[in-house]
Amino acid sequence: MSRSKSVLTQLLRIFPQWRPQMYFKASLTALSHAMEDQVLAGSEQPLVIASFQRERFYRQEAQRYRRIAQKSNQVYVLAAPETDFKHRSQDYETVAFDADDPLTKEWHLIVLGKNYASCLICQEKNNFTSQEMTADMDNNRRFEGIWTFDRQVTQQAANILLKTIVNYRPELEEKAQQARDQYIPSYILRDEPPQTKDIDNTTWDVTKNKPDPFVQRLVTYLQAGQYKLIKANRTLSTKEHKERLINSVTTAIRLSLDPDEILQIAVQKLGEGLGVCRCLVYRCKETDTTATIEHEFLNQGIPSIKGQTWPLQHNPLFQEVVELRDPLTIDDAINDPRLANGKTGTTSSQQSLKTLVSSCSILSWMLVPIFYSGRLLGMLELHHCGPKPITWKEEDVALVNAIATQIGVALIQAEAYANLQDLNEQLEALDRTRSNLVAITGHELRTPLSTIQVCLESLATEPDMSPELRQVMLNTALQDAERMRKLVQDFLTLSQLESGRVEWNIEALDLHECVELSLSNVRARHKETKLPTIENLVMEELPLIKADGEWLVEVLAKLLDNACKFTSEEGKITIEVSCSSPHHLEVTVADTGRGIEPKRLETVFDRFYQEEGALRRSTGGTGLGLAICRQIVQGWGGKIWAESQGKDHGSKFHFTVPIYIDQMPNQSSSKTITRSRQSRQKARGKSVQGKRQQARGKRE
Ligand code: ADP
Repeated sequence: MSRSKSVLTQLLRIFPQWRPQMYFKASLTALSHAMEDQVLAGSEQPLVIASFQRERFYRQEAQRYRRIAQKSNQVYVLAAPETDFKHRSQDYETVAFDADDPLTKEWHLIVLGKNYASCLICQEKNNFTSQEMTADMDNNRRFEGIWTFDRQVTQQAANILLKTIVNYRPELEEKAQQARDQYIPSYILRDEPPQTKDIDNTTWDVTKNKPDPFVQRLVTYLQAGQYKLIKANRTLSTKEHKERLINSVTTAIRLSLDPDEILQIAVQKLGEGLGVCRCLVYRCKETDTTATIEHEFLNQGIPSIKGQTWPLQHNPLFQEVVELRDPLTIDDAINDPRLANGKTGTTSSQQSLKTLVSSCSILSWMLVPIFYSGRLLGMLELHHCGPKPITWKEEDVALVNAIATQIGVALIQAEAYANLQDLNEQLEALDRTRSNLVAITGHELRTPLSTIQVCLESLATEPDMSPELRQVMLNTALQDAERMRKLVQDFLTLSQLESGRVEWNIEALDLHECVELSLSNVRARHKETKLPTIENLVMEELPLIKADGEWLVEVLAKLLDNACKFTSEEGKITIEVSCSSPHHLEVTVADTGRGIEPKRLETVFDRFYQEEGALRRSTGGTGLGLAICRQIVQGWGGKIWAESQGKDHGSKFHFTVPIYIDQMPNQSSSKTITRSRQSRQKARGKSVQGKRQQARGKRE
């Protein structure tokens, strides 16, 4: 419980004409030392009362007061105890006041002698608690109060403080009374106004009795110097704060390679560092229409907007930032012209921004783009939500901008790392595929080679072999040699396609003609064997397609070959084309053959997939045909897939091929269907057959 009242307040009530002045701590220290030195240098025995706010301030001066006590027996030191400061009567009297006493906010020094009097009665203006007080703050401490040589003011102040001393230490009443008798006139003790006889002519004139002009000027210089120092200190500490914040954000975000973590740390640190109401960040590109708020920092009581979708394309603020490539600040969002009604009324984008401003309670707004090498990666936003709008400081904008640059670097690093990981995975997959391929190819080649070797060895070592058996041996060796040739050729074709080294010769083609061509190829290849019935249901009047003729015929031939292989002579094969979409034709090769199990419909497109396994191959083939078809079809941006109701239910192979869109505006694809064959051929220039021969020549 506090026992005293503020000495300054009491004094100003007695002397209402006195105006308190502002003093820095350093000035008060200098003035106090000067007053104390006057006691030490003089020959008087004055009354000295010093009130320190806290014990630790007194400790710095304890030695001085021991020396002062040698000059006078009326010395009183007051302080709020922190360790062992207590009421004591030794060299001088010590008074330990309560921690909640208003004296803890004040700085007093009274020197009252016979020939001179001076007092310093000041009150601290900062509201730091002792825990909050750092070295920087200590230097910036400001006081307001009176410093004077006025005897009457000094006597009044001494009277007030003596009362406080006796209040805390009643046993000192007698000693205090001696001091009063010696230094304080009776009208002051009686709390009465002074009589004429009490006034020493100048007492009530505040302009007189002021400290010597030289001393006063000295104090002014001291104050000005201190002010400059504090200003410089403040600039330095702002700079230091800025650098510390940038450093801490940079260090924190550089520790992570996870973009989400980077952004969350950045908003958290930035929001805390600048003490804004809301700090948020979202990733976006210049062309994005909207963005989702992914990360935010909120100060207490501020509503969250995480997960909300923010308009970008129709957001004049976003567009301005992107165009100027600079941060944008709005001090008063409610009255900003970009958000207020224009001459032509409010546009819908303004309206939606206004809604945003009010739903998110944004009063002052800062938008800072995150760029890396001119590429927009995201946006940092700072919101101030009240109670009043604020003016964004230039240094804060520069700071957020510097942090945005760091975020950009960190995001790019994270992106590069993710790409590297992807690339690593791709490389690993490629390496696995390569090893597999080597193993499978080795096996596929070794099998026919062994057969050829056995046949040739038998022919060489057994001269007595019957001519029929010789013929069988020779035929087997020749067949396997052919299989090896096909395998090597397919393998090379597939590698070429997979490596992307194929030069596509995309042109306008007549699909019907391509089908005819592949059918005649198949028939020529199988002229020795009896084939199932093949029905070509492809209409002649089809839109031109956009593909590489040579590869298209290859796909058709492979699908037809397979259909022939897996369908008995009694079965049937059909080829059809339908318009699957406005931009594609769909080719279907269907057969009534042995079908495919539904679970194998995808795997048949894998390399070396053969249902009966390589060793039980009854139909020939390399197991690479469908893998090649898939690569070719994907090459022109089409799709290929198989369909079957299961074993012995036949199969259907479908693939799509893009329609050639003529450059002439009113020739839509539907119109093209009715165009005459002649005109199509004209558009195409050369026939597929010619092209195919030409291309084959190139490949061989
Ligand atoms: P292959 O040279 O063995 O024909 P493909 O890649 O062309 O190699 O075909 C792979 C496998 O897919 C074939 O071995 C066969 O098991 C199955 N397959 C392909 N086409 C058909 C079809 N029309 N009917 C039934 N099965 C088929």
